[in-house]
Amino acid sequence: MLKNKKDTPDKYYEKGLKFKCIGCGSCCTGAPGFVYLSEKEIYDISRYLGISAILFIKQYTTVVRIFGEKRLSLREKSNYDCTFLKDNRCSIYPVRPYQCRSYPFWKNNVESEKQWNRVAKECPGVNKGILYTKYEIESIINGTPDYNIKNFRIVIDVKI
Ligand code: SF4
Ligand code: SF4
Repeated sequence: MLKNKKDTPDKYYEKGLKFKCIGCGSCCTGAPGFVYLSEKEIYDISRYLGISAILFIKQYTTVVRIFGEKRLSLREKSNYDCTFLKDNRCSIYPVRPYQCRSYPFWKNNVESEKQWNRVAKECPGVNKGILYTKYEIESIINGTPDYNIKNFRIVIDVKI
């Protein structure tokens, strides 16, 4: 029972969850999916590639309508690999998007133990290695940036 309104219910990950990426690359391929981009990530990746942000948007992203907003997502190859997966490695690793950095600690992945165990079947790094505390897990989730292109100056400028 909750003691007062400020208390939050115990989660199954009250004692934390383990994860260590082994670099297998399987989360960058497989079934179709989205890798959303914040405005800062657009600038960071385009600078890393040595091209303009507008060219990056045109060449490497697509508009997705989801959750009542428009977002930019990285394009996929015809086999659904991420456009930046090269030789089973991320070719933009130092500037990979938050969505990639924060995996597997996404809100929907940790919402129940059943869901977390489902993710464990897809990611061999889940339940192994480093222990992330509940605070760290929830900080990662709360750090998700704004993906709504309505709030991006760059996207408004290029009229996507
Ligand atoms: S599936 Fe898991 S272990 Fe493999 S690259 Fe992705 S995060 Fe790392
Ligand atoms: S940006 Fe890099 S880490 Fe993210 S899905 Fe693409 S290849 Fe994988």
